[in-house]
Amino acid sequence: MTHLMNTYARLPLAFVRGEGAWLIDAKGRRILDAISGIGVCSLGHAHPRLAEVIAEQAATLIHTANLAHIPVQEELATRLSHASGLDQAFIANSGAEALECAFKLARRFGHDRGIHDPAILVTQNGFHGRTLAGISASGNPAIQQGFGPPVSGFVHVPFNDLPAAARAMDESDRIVAVLVESIQGEAGVRVPDDDYLPGLRELCDRHDALLMLDEVQSGMCRSGRWFAFQHASGAEPDVITVAKALGNGIPIGACLARSRVGDLMTPGSHGSTFGGNPLACRVAVEVMGIMDDQKLAEAARHRGAEIIRRLRAGLAEVPGVRQIRGRGLMIGIELSTDATELRQAALDRDLLINVTRGNTIRLLPPLIIDRTEAETIADVLIDIIRARATSG
Ligand SMILES: *Cc1c(COP(=O)(O)O)cnc(C)c1O
Repeated sequence: MTHLMNTYARLPLAFVRGEGAWLIDAKGRRILDAISGIGVCSLGHAHPRLAEVIAEQAATLIHTANLAHIPVQEELATRLSHASGLDQAFIANSGAEALECAFKLARRFGHDRGIHDPAILVTQNGFHGRTLAGISASGNPAIQQGFGPPVSGFVHVPFNDLPAAARAMDESDRIVAVLVESIQGEAGVRVPDDDYLPGLRELCDRHDALLMLDEVQSGMCRSGRWFAFQHASGAEPDVITVAKALGNGIPIGACLARSRVGDLMTPGSHGSTFGGNPLACRVAVEVMGIMDDQKLAEAARHRGAEIIRRLRAGLAEVPGVRQIRGRGLMIGIELSTDATELRQAALDRDLLINVTRGNTIRLLPPLIIDRTEAETIADVLIDIIRARATSG
């Protein structure tokens, strides 16, 4: 009998080792990882430079709490500032915690302006983590089921719908911030129109509201830029949440903000015992250094375009394929019917994929995949989707 809570529908698999883009089970079977632990292991598994800094830092200093200065936390904040264009960072341990900081900043920003029941505009089908505020902000009723009452102060509108956002902001003087994913991940890799984020920026300027972008999944080079908002100009946010690939598997998240927003926090107003410890920060600094050195944003752009091109060519006119979409190495293949059983079909061909929203295959492979691995991912998927179409 298991003593774990039954919160995950797990595959009948356990891995004991990893090597680059490959996961290996106890029998030595090698499986190509096209999901990276849900967009986390962007540098692949068992990266030698990370293994080295983890061992070195563990033998030096792991944790002090934020009672004293932590120089490597400062160094990480500086790196994140250069990559994002924002000024300040709060270092947390996960995506959900990075978002809690963002929610609190938005509320403080409202109170500062005399709005004492502030609300945040969020989107339907958005995903912002599993805390109570996170599931209240998320626009997916399934993850809220049985956990009511929700945290108040969230107004939902459809994603990628500027007029709906404009109407909501015109109708309410409580909205102090807009929070969206730059590319919706859990909703099935939904890339908004090019004018969406710049349009939200304009709306926020007009209403003196904060533009907050959840880049927990789309950030850290995944989309082909440090952050997905950087594909368009005029979408510079006030707040960004980051996590997933920031630590390549060592738990860490960050909430980034412009000074005028970050300055709303004062000693005692927010905190975390583990947040920003020397081990996690040292790893994140190294992750960002490797992403720079190996030009992984560019790699994501090229490999992602190759995979999408190959999938579109191989799946053209295959019945049941609704849309192939994505940016960089964040790719969705939407089918017209349930795709859940394709997880096993892919595994039978030694490929690990993820299915979200029932009908969308989601690919988040490591950014270090080579051309052959990228082709293998596309070719296996083409085969199994074609086989399914012909079998009825
Ligand atoms: C994964 C994810 C989160 C939650 O991150 P956790 O580290 O699981 O708390 C929040 N927002 C987005 C967009 C995500 O993809």
